[in-house]
Amino acid sequence: MTTVTHLISSTPTLARDIDGKAISAQVLDEVREEVLALAGQQIFPALAVLLVGDDPASHVYVRNKLLRAKEVGIRSLEYRLPDDASQAQVLEQIAQLNADASVNGILVQLPLPGHIDEAAVIHAIDPIKDVDGFHRENVGGLVQGMEVLTPCTPSGCMRLLKETCGDISGLHAVVIGRSNIVGKPMATLLLQAHCSVSVVHSRSVDAPALCRLADIVVAAVGRPHLIDASWLKPGAVVIDVGINRVTDESGSHLVGDVDYASARTVARAITPVPGGVGPMTIAYLLKNTLIAAKLQRAVKAREPDPDGCDSDIN
Ligand code: NAD
Repeated sequence: MTTVTHLISSTPTLARDIDGKAISAQVLDEVREEVLALAGQQIFPALAVLLVGDDPASHVYVRNKLLRAKEVGIRSLEYRLPDDASQAQVLEQIAQLNADASVNGILVQLPLPGHIDEAAVIHAIDPIKDVDGFHRENVGGLVQGMEVLTPCTPSGCMRLLKETCGDISGLHAVVIGRSNIVGKPMATLLLQAHCSVSVVHSRSVDAPALCRLADIVVAAVGRPHLIDASWLKPGAVVIDVGINRVTDESGSHLVGDVDYASARTVARAITPVPGGVGPMTIAYLLKNTLIAAKLQRAVKAREPDPDGCDSDIN
């Protein structure tokens, strides 16, 4: 009797990658088109980036932002202050940029040197030029569902989810991390998209169990490989915001908060690191610069005529 051996594959189906590079390229194309349309209306959006100090990583981030701005036709201006610049000098630079009508977006690269009060600097930026969306007026507006400048990374994550899942209304999303920059605005945007939202943080009891209830997981923790397959419900969509530099036997490289190799055996779709959320953040910074330019145009249109008469009848 012949024995037939059936080979049954034990390889699980792996999650598909959510391609942040390709989706951010689409966003940049949209920005480029809109820049051309605005040029037709004599509007030439400009982004000012202020860098204080010598942090090497900040220099790289600023260079990339300015490069991308140039590629889509947004005018970019770089301002640098030394590491020992005083708070008054930083605030004076921001006041000048606020007053300059040719500047539409102001970004202060964080972190600032330790002697400078970061919150005071952020709140000195004119809210309609605050392309990072960190000003308390924009944060409040976002919570109330108003059309305001919204933090770039969560906006980028929402676009990734839209491209991957379409309508996410009614799904359960778990955001891991509650920072002002990522976790809190992310939870707000998911709520606006009609998800049921849970926020898991450093004091949560049994974070993996809470996370296993999620259809969508957004990880913004800053701990390499914290979230593995055991945290995930089969078929979950995973957005990994984390950027962590680790050094191992293969050298120094970037990894996310999610253990990609493990998580992709359970998830339906997952963002790689690098190449997932990272490129979306810059793309949405440039989108925000256009939104800022349009908000400023709307404000200007509402201003009373300085001569006190309607220009149409002059
Ligand atoms: P943060 O340090 O301000 O906040 C981290 C959050 O994680 C906190 O709210 C904390 O409560 C939570 N946390 C810590 N340990 C935890 C644990 N064991 N379980 C559950 N929650 C825990 O960090 P952040 O600024 O929000 O950044 C998070 C990560 O995202 C970092 O790796 C950062 O580099 C990265 N990041 C990436 C981008 C991008 O463009 N891709 C943008 C911003 C931040």
